[in-house]
Amino acid sequence: MIDLHSHTDQSDGTLTPAQLVEAAVQARLEALGVCDHDTLAGYDAALPIAQAAGLELVCGIELSTRMPAAEKPRGKSVHLLGYFLERPAPAEFRQWLGGIQEGRRDRNRRLAARLQSLGLDITVEEAEVLGRNLTGRPHFARLLVGKGYVSSIQEAFNLYLDESAKGYVDRCEPSLAEGIRRIRAAGGLPVLAHPVRLLRKKPDSLDPMVEQLVTEGLGGIEVWHSDHTPKDVEYFQGLADRFGLARTGGSDFHGDTKPGVQLGTGLNGNLAIPREVLDRLRR
Ligand code: AMP
Ligand code: ZN
Ligand code: FE
Ligand code: FE
Repeated sequence: MIDLHSHTDQSDGTLTPAQLVEAAVQARLEALGVCDHDTLAGYDAALPIAQAAGLELVCGIELSTRMPAAEKPRGKSVHLLGYFLERPAPAEFRQWLGGIQEGRRDRNRRLAARLQSLGLDITVEEAEVLGRNLTGRPHFARLLVGKGYVSSIQEAFNLYLDESAKGYVDRCEPSLAEGIRRIRAAGGLPVLAHPVRLLRKKPDSLDPMVEQLVTEGLGGIEVWHSDHTPKDVEYFQGLADRFGLARTGGSDFHGDTKPGVQLGTGLNGNLAIPREVLDRLRR
């Protein structure tokens, strides 16, 4: 069994890279993909530990991108995975990530100010203590829980942090087309992450959208994911077939940030991704 989508505490997961490798070994995974948001620091730190433990590690990234949408001036949010199967991402790509990280810091300062204006005692410094390498909304959510303003991370998003909620503050995100281009230029495989989220917003077929993205360089689709039902998986397998896309899969494990999602096995054991998926990806 393998898991190609996980997060460390170098983005918004709660396990350190070393703890994540240990958890993967405990779960008897044959390969683990580290796909932190906007940073390769978790992968970099995990690599020597995984090598010592005899665990195959896959270098990945997860980018939050925007895609044009008629009804939304900001565009709609699309998560894009990048897999660097032959060699880790080069310096130029890392520099580009540095710019995105800077944009986050600016957003985080404005987000803290916004939450303060809503009467909440939240500072950017406190969020950055939790976020360390990369601070995101889930860290603000944890602070809101810790201070008793809300009772769960989900409630923090629903009341304050979600795009539709009163505390939301924009950040500069690359377009989906640019994300695809950057990953390709860096020698990576761009993969549409947890496509079920796009399906929810658009109950009809994703075929036209995927057809367009393939012309822009999309190379794969995350067929297996903790949030996918068997029916979703069947649909995404068909999409992969119709458009010649590679298939990937993973739990999107975040530790305590996403309680219930287990490394390798997903949500209530809804995942068991065979090693062959990675072998085919490499071919
Ligand atoms: P950021 O990249 O800092 O804007 O934070 C985005 C992350 O917050 C996503 O990757 C999700 O893990 C999480 N997130 C965004 N919206 C929600 C939501 N409505 N409910 C729960 N988590 C969310
Ligand atoms: Zn995350
Ligand atoms: Fe995601
Ligand atoms: Fe993820």
